[in-house]
Amino acid sequence: MNIIIFGPPLAGKGTQSKRIINDFGLTHLSTGDALRSEKAQKTELGIKASEYSSKGLLVPDDLVAQIVESFYHNHKSEKGILFDGYPRNTEQAKHLLNVIEKDGSSIDKVIFLKVPKEELLKRAVKRAEEENRKDDKDSNIVLTRINEFGNSTIPAINFIKESGIKTIEIDGNQSIDDIYEIIKSEFQ
Ligand code: AMP
Repeated sequence: MNIIIFGPPLAGKGTQSKRIINDFGLTHLSTGDALRSEKAQKTELGIKASEYSSKGLLVPDDLVAQIVESFYHNHKSEKGILFDGYPRNTEQAKHLLNVIEKDGSSIDKVIFLKVPKEELLKRAVKRAEEENRKDDKDSNIVLTRINEFGNSTIPAINFIKESGIKTIEIDGNQSIDDIYEIIKSEFQ
């Protein structure tokens, strides 16, 4: 079973992803985490990507596609992959469906966590204190990331929906437990 979890920055994708992978045995691919790890290891890809991510902008498709393809081919024999943070635009959505379909597999479900902008801005202040993420500290960077979501990722979600994949839209402005109950009920 392959799943995509969508949501604006700070919607709680990472938190829900941890629960999903624990309970359903999926393998987690967070492109944000993968890019942060590339940066920490000072790889060429990580350094190039951070020129964009440090400003809240999307990293060029070819850089992220490399990560996704190699992850997919290394983990496809497992129970399934939870894609968190990929795709983030329509080109990436086409790329992901192409990689998966070429392999005779499919995306089985899509989860979309919806959270209003004002709530996202409040959460950024809190996470900046708790996790020391640089891109949460500066409200201009947070706003850029939220705008990237609206401008680039919403069209990708629409593209995926139009391709006929079941998309579950969830109000992300509820407790972590309540959101997870809804997600779990969709798996039964
Ligand atoms: P995240 O941890 O998912 O919020 O991602 C942090 C940052 O990594 C984003 O603001 C982007 O700069 C970059 N990033 C993560 N995933 C992607 C992607 N699929 N395409 C382009 N940039 C990405």
